[in-house]
Amino acid sequence: MTDIRDILDARRLIAPHLPETPLWSYPVLDAAVGAEVHVKHENVQPTGAFKVRGGIALLARMADRGRGVVTYSTGNHAQSVAYASRLYGVPCAVLMPENPNPAKVAAVEALGATVEIRGATMVEAAGHARDLAERTGRRLISPADEPDILAGVGTLYVELFTARPDLEAVFVPVGSGSGAAAACLAAAALAPGCRVIAVQSAQAPAAHDSWRLREPVTRPVKTVVEGLATGSAFALPQAVMRDGLADFVLVDDDDILRAQRLLLTEAHTLAEGAGAAALAGLLARREEFAGRTVAVVCTGGNAGPAELARLLASAV
Ligand SMILES: *Cc1c(COP(=O)(O)O)cnc(C)c1O
Repeated sequence: MTDIRDILDARRLIAPHLPETPLWSYPVLDAAVGAEVHVKHENVQPTGAFKVRGGIALLARMADRGRGVVTYSTGNHAQSVAYASRLYGVPCAVLMPENPNPAKVAAVEALGATVEIRGATMVEAAGHARDLAERTGRRLISPADEPDILAGVGTLYVELFTARPDLEAVFVPVGSGSGAAAACLAAAALAPGCRVIAVQSAQAPAAHDSWRLREPVTRPVKTVVEGLATGSAFALPQAVMRDGLADFVLVDDDDILRAQRLLLTEAHTLAEGAGAAALAGLLARREEFAGRTVAVVCTGGNAGPAELARLLASAV
């Protein structure tokens, strides 16, 4: 099982490649929320999302990386693995299900990875990725059931808790749960007084329901929020979250859009939906956290053209 030593190891490995991300607060945002809110800005990562920490940590520690890698994802995980593969000169193939976002395909290809469109759903694309890995001898990288990804993502929380060991809570958006699980591990070691609170869209509640029921369940994916759109539970992050999370909040896609707008207007920050979900979770619990010192992780800023149009239309 991954622990804080693995996270500190990962920190050493990624330090030459990624500077620490900023942690800012905004008086107008504080006023709007009614708490002291610290925003961890992963939207400024070179790939526009926190996941790149996990990709670099995994590739840095892969002994036989010359054989290449295969993964499956529609978005930020693909860019993370493609970015890390370029860094280490590793051949990288990404399987995406049909009708991918063209901007995301272009971003992955621009990093030098090859994109193959296979299957109607992510589950089918994952199957094709497994076949390709078997046929070619490349290493298959799971989006979340990877200890090195968990360790790499944990570096975000080492930065956060080193800067603010006094935090009373941190809100973390969940798709697979690797980010929230990493937060649990880092908080236990560095900020035991800080409650880790996960947030997911009520329109895709598989991770939330699995956590509540303490057993893996699948749920329909109806959210428009990429990054949170996972229909089943991932074993490794669920095992860590089981006892590590203080709470798990469900918010509607509309609440996420509102939080996105708040970040835009009060924190001059362009967050993609998943990147605003933590703030939406805090807003859902604003009475409980009134006057408290809390952090929200703005996990990413990769809003596509349709999402940008929706966000701006909602702002007028
Ligand atoms: C992947 C992603 C999430 C969810 O993270 P998990 O580790 O899969 O739970 C949240 N926000 C953004 C921007 C993401 O790309």
